[in-house]
Amino acid sequence: MGATTKLLRWYRLHGRNLPWRRTRDPYRILVSEVMLQQTQVDRVKEYYRTWLKKFPTWKKLARASNADVIHAWAGLGYNRRALMVRDVARSVIEHGVPKTEVAWFAIKGIGPYTAAAVSAFAQKRRTLPIDTNIRRVLGRLLLGKPFAELKDDETIRSKADDFLPRRGAYYDVPQAIFDLATLICTKNPDCASCPLRKDCKAAKLFVSGRVQIPKRSIATARERKHRNKPFPDRIYRGRILKTVRERGQVSGRRLGQMIDPDFDKHLDQEWLEMMIDRLAKDGLVSYSRKIITLPKG
Ligand code: SF4
Repeated sequence: MGATTKLLRWYRLHGRNLPWRRTRDPYRILVSEVMLQQTQVDRVKEYYRTWLKKFPTWKKLARASNADVIHAWAGLGYNRRALMVRDVARSVIEHGVPKTEVAWFAIKGIGPYTAAAVSAFAQKRRTLPIDTNIRRVLGRLLLGKPFAELKDDETIRSKADDFLPRRGAYYDVPQAIFDLATLICTKNPDCASCPLRKDCKAAKLFVSGRVQIPKRSIATARERKHRNKPFPDRIYRGRILKTVRERGQVSGRRLGQMIDPDFDKHLDQEWLEMMIDRLAKDGLVSYSRKIITLPKG
């Protein structure tokens, strides 16, 4: 039995039952995919339902204002994503639902991963949305690399061409890999429980204990953090936005203390303004005459 067949069998028995896997609606798939970027599945499940109640269609979302979507996204983090999904909805209403991966990718804000994911899961295209999970599992399985990197994506893509079946449920293969990556082929994999252990080029390395598991992820190391502050900047940006969302408008002079009890107006003011500027640049707040509000439009 080939590795893909083993994987799909395992997926039928052990795959996660997720609400966005029960639909082929490109709108719902897009919403789920954007929410899943940087947010854990359990949290997304809850937000996905609420969002769809509020904005059940492209049309409803396309009509939503900046403030509407920022409010509805509250708590999910990385708020630029909310405006991006709304802008995609506006593009779809104007030009129609894209039919190909290339056409999805041509919409502003949609990256190669999301274009491939919507094409595969909503439109059953034979394509591979490469994210960290797919990179990790296929990097191990097909390339024998314990920790594949971004630069390996093209090799993975070409090798995966044989791995993706030409008929049948090829569109389920990426979902099956996501689940294997989450449940078994984690950073420190459980090769003994893996349905692909006999096919995997990296299995021996792990089983023999010849692989050093890196302690810190690259993403964590790259997060920007202000000196003397315990959290990365994105946490404080989230607090700024939450405060503005709850109060409607906030004076820049009072904001520092509201987002950080240890805020020092001599040492931290520049840092605060840099974060407000970044939020304004992302279209998430307006900043004028030292007053911060949610953006109009
Ligand atoms: S055998 Fe191990 S390394 Fe290979 S795919 Fe399975 S869990 Fe991952």
